[in-house]
Amino acid sequence: MYDVAIIGGGPGGYAAALYAHNFGLSVALVEKDEVGGTCLLRGCIPAKAWLQAAHVYSMVKRAGEFGVVSSEPTVDWPTALERKNKVVTGLVKGLGGLLKARGVEVINGYGALKDGGVEVTATDLSTSRLEATNVILATGSVPRSIPGYEIDGNRIVSSAHALDWQERPERVAIIGGGVIGCEFASLLGDFGSEVHLFEALDQLLPEMDADAVKTLDRSLRKKKVKVRTSTSVGAPEMLEGGVRVPFGDESVEVDAVLVAVGRAPVTDGVGLELTSAVVDRGFVEVDLATMQTAEPHLFAVGDIVANTPQLAHAGFAEGISAITYIATGEAAPVDYNAIPLVVYTDPEVAHVGLSETQARSQERDITVTSHGMRGVGRAIIQGEVGGIVKLVAETDGPVLGATVSGPGAGEMIHELMYTVAWEALPEEAAAYIHAHPTVSEAIGETLLSASGRSLH
Ligand code: NAD
Repeated sequence: MYDVAIIGGGPGGYAAALYAHNFGLSVALVEKDEVGGTCLLRGCIPAKAWLQAAHVYSMVKRAGEFGVVSSEPTVDWPTALERKNKVVTGLVKGLGGLLKARGVEVINGYGALKDGGVEVTATDLSTSRLEATNVILATGSVPRSIPGYEIDGNRIVSSAHALDWQERPERVAIIGGGVIGCEFASLLGDFGSEVHLFEALDQLLPEMDADAVKTLDRSLRKKKVKVRTSTSVGAPEMLEGGVRVPFGDESVEVDAVLVAVGRAPVTDGVGLELTSAVVDRGFVEVDLATMQTAEPHLFAVGDIVANTPQLAHAGFAEGISAITYIATGEAAPVDYNAIPLVVYTDPEVAHVGLSETQARSQERDITVTSHGMRGVGRAIIQGEVGGIVKLVAETDGPVLGATVSGPGAGEMIHELMYTVAWEALPEEAAAYIHAHPTVSEAIGETLLSASGRSLH
């Protein structure tokens, strides 16, 4: 009898498994594939490896600007793919070692809830049963598609396939200008592919601050990405050597279509119907203070949880929250308001807390302050001056939210995460001096302006 059985070895599941050692809980982790989940195997990590290759390529192309003489770089796609694979296998191996060191029993097979325990079906279809006092469901998500665009892994692909393209596609249509769509448009644009990016709503990254997205939009257009917002595509036409994607009265012909219109939770076939857990359109409803479902001793974490962001780090936090409650009986809720979202495009766009639009729709009395990167020494040195810092603060009150676009935005957002989480007043945070020269000085300047003073 284990204290905890976990179904799914992605960020939510493996974080729960690793964290359990703090309380001496015995853990079985059931995984049908390798441990690591979407994030490690076919999501965050491999995507960032490709983005890094694209970044190096575009920096080398710009070398002359910095007085560094180099010949025109070319992309060695197989080597970049191999490096991406090495990064992934290294991390998967490391995670396996860590789970072992923490005494987690990793069981290979398909897990499903049954009679209060977990039934595991191995690849040879033999079944075994696990008894556990608590079960955490962490089965993750899969890419969604739209009618007419059934994913075949060849011409119509999901991000998982695109991460394993064996050669650089010459012409790609990307449907969906959300996080995945923008990241792929950025890297493929850097690599010189012809990219058509279609977004149904009126801006890319619709949830993000419009001014921050403008810097990304400009950069994508500079990479010759054809960005089409407020545009829906019609049914595709399969051609001899590609796909025709119609929109309005026009169409484009491409080698492949990447569908990036969101991800669906994986909750069918895991035995939830045999429990009292509430499932709404595939998402599991939980008490967000404890991650507990309506079924006693059944918890859910990660991309399957209703009304929470589908982010690896949200999954980590939920795994930790569930384990803490199981071990101590004390609720340790995730502060969803302070979970940063980072889009790893060039330039990066990052956000935490309330956006200006959200704050206005809640009729909050807010003051919005922003600062561009153009005068920031370190950004000028790096040759990356497109970007802004934007703070949303309650008028005469604390910082409620922040967006940063520009070089290193994904790292810089974390100081604002603390500012938001700790409800700091702009003047309190502005009292501390950022090292010079850093891009982060833009945050110091914005905080100073938000407190009614300014320096530069
Ligand atoms: P998403 O929800 O971020 O974006 C989907 C986009 O597709 C939206 O902008 C939507 O308006 C658009 N769309 C939907 N139907 C459309 C249509 N028919 N035509 C044109 N546009 C359409 O989803 P995603 O980019 O697929 O990412 C899936 C999940 O994975 C998200 O929750 C995302 O946060 C997560 N993810 C996060 C990161 C990161 O944190 N850097 C990276 C990749 C994925």
